[in-house]
Amino acid sequence: MDPITELLAEVLEEIRPRDAGAPADYIPELASADPDLLAFSVVGPRGRVRSVGDDHAEFTIQSISKPFVLALALAEKGRDAVLGRVGAEPSGEPFNAISLEPVTGRPANPMINAGAIATSALIPGDDVDDRTARIVDMLSAFAGRSLWVDEAVYASESLTGERNRALAHLLKSHAVIDGPVDVAVETYFRQCSLLVTVRDLAVMAATLAFGGVNPVTGRRVVDERVARDVLSIMSSCGMYDYSGEWLLRVGLPAKSGVSGGLMAVAPSQFGVAAFSPRLDTHGNSVRAVALVEEASERFGMHLLEPH
Ligand code: GLU
Repeated sequence: MDPITELLAEVLEEIRPRDAGAPADYIPELASADPDLLAFSVVGPRGRVRSVGDDHAEFTIQSISKPFVLALALAEKGRDAVLGRVGAEPSGEPFNAISLEPVTGRPANPMINAGAIATSALIPGDDVDDRTARIVDMLSAFAGRSLWVDEAVYASESLTGERNRALAHLLKSHAVIDGPVDVAVETYFRQCSLLVTVRDLAVMAATLAFGGVNPVTGRRVVDERVARDVLSIMSSCGMYDYSGEWLLRVGLPAKSGVSGGLMAVAPSQFGVAAFSPRLDTHGNSVRAVALVEEASERFGMHLLEPH
């Protein structure tokens, strides 16, 4: 084992005994996740993927899709058009909050559900399939392999997604989304239901870390400016209502999702990802947070520390 993989394995075993929290159950299909799964992965500048634990376990990307769909919206529409529909301010509220500006109805940021639905609605396409196909292409380019939707999770989410549907109707009432509400919200559910592994997430994070170039495939996926914009928003808004404390403790732009995934970005150095389904009260994975926090400490990755 090379020294970096050894260190990952050591951190993994240190964190393994923690068993606080529980898998998300508001999407019924997520409640059946094996709570003991645990995985950790890092990708460096030459595209070498190092991973330990249950690194081939697949799970749905959920909210970690949000920064990548934001990247697609920025690439397609430009920053001003995106900011016209969704803000860049941390809401300090839970992911599913009805956090809309009073007069304009603009959601606070693209990392909470309201903002993510508004962002998905900016992706051009004739129908849900067409829009989803563009999103899947973009996320697959970030991951360096073809991703696909877990139909069971999608069905479960669509069946129980009344709160997200309500958010979409509010957005529509403020003309934040233009097309049919159903198209916006079903596209959003499908993007959240894409299957990934911790290795995929680390490659996706690394693509953001290296200015939009996937270090495994060598392919430019988005402009440097788009990657920078996405990382800026992840820095202040990526960890739900734990974003401020996360920046204080870990010092890296990051995004978590309710299936237990977490990715963090050390610009020009690493893409990092962790996975474990048990969540804390913010909706962040207890052990994924602990893994990345420990790694940031040991590798000296806090961005606001003098390097
Ligand atoms: N699909 C989930 C929802 O909209 C994503 C939530 C999350 O991962 O934060 O409820």
